[in-house]
Amino acid sequence: MKCIGPHVSISGGVWNAPERARELGATGFGMFTKNQRQWKAKDLTEEDIERFTQALSEQGYTADMILPHDSYLINLGHPDGEKLIKSRDAFLDEVRRVEKLGLKLLNFHPGSHLKAMEPEACLDRIAESLNRTIAQTESAVMVIENTAGQGSNLGNRFEEIARIIDGVKDKSRVGVCLDTCHLFAAGYDLRTAESMEAVWAEFDRIIGFEFLKGMHLNDAKSEYASRVDRHHSLGHGNIGWEAFQRIAADSRFDGIPLILETIDEALWPEEVARIISLTE
Ligand SMILES: [Zn+2]
Ligand SMILES: [Zn+2]
Repeated sequence: MKCIGPHVSISGGVWNAPERARELGATGFGMFTKNQRQWKAKDLTEEDIERFTQALSEQGYTADMILPHDSYLINLGHPDGEKLIKSRDAFLDEVRRVEKLGLKLLNFHPGSHLKAMEPEACLDRIAESLNRTIAQTESAVMVIENTAGQGSNLGNRFEEIARIIDGVKDKSRVGVCLDTCHLFAAGYDLRTAESMEAVWAEFDRIIGFEFLKGMHLNDAKSEYASRVDRHHSLGHGNIGWEAFQRIAADSRFDGIPLILETIDEALWPEEVARIISLTE
């Protein structure tokens, strides 16, 4: 079964997300657990947690179908010591929120060296940030998203993600989310069946499918290998509909959240329905 749906809003409270996803026909969804543009949020109360858990079960979702995303402000590889501490504290809070809500995953962007440190040292710092977080939390899996490689963002090559995973002591607490737009912009060609299969083979060889915990399904406004991160609606961009059709029919992507971060919300129900209809 494909767990497919968009990243839905939590405005008014996290407990509103499941109903919003259900209205779109989604069988999975992405969400923030707090305002993604702020460092701090009010702690989740027992009542918040209760309302969220109830909404989830009422709408028929389980934790496996949901891919929470952390704040965009966090940089777990920050070259500046004080700012690194701020990011690590905020990330720890994000992981605890996920665990309190009974969720299992937390999707994050690896980090940026900001041209102030060597990429390798930055990747090792990110791994160290994960080790520290894991030591202070219970069970959530930290899911590294591949990037388009814009600016000084790390994680556009599989080798970089593999280096982070290598540095994480407890491998059961780390995973990967593949964003198709970011793959394409980073120079992984998904346009033909052959080129796509070569990308998955490379992913399996360098990282391993056992680490794949979710995907972001986005077409790309950006050009191939441009390292520019611009999403598009499925079938409207430079990757093309056939790539998503192949993913929908591929059982390797069953049972993990497949999240739409596509740009036209009006098309979400149709995008969800088309992917579900192609699933065996
Ligand atoms: Zn993404
Ligand atoms: Zn993106």
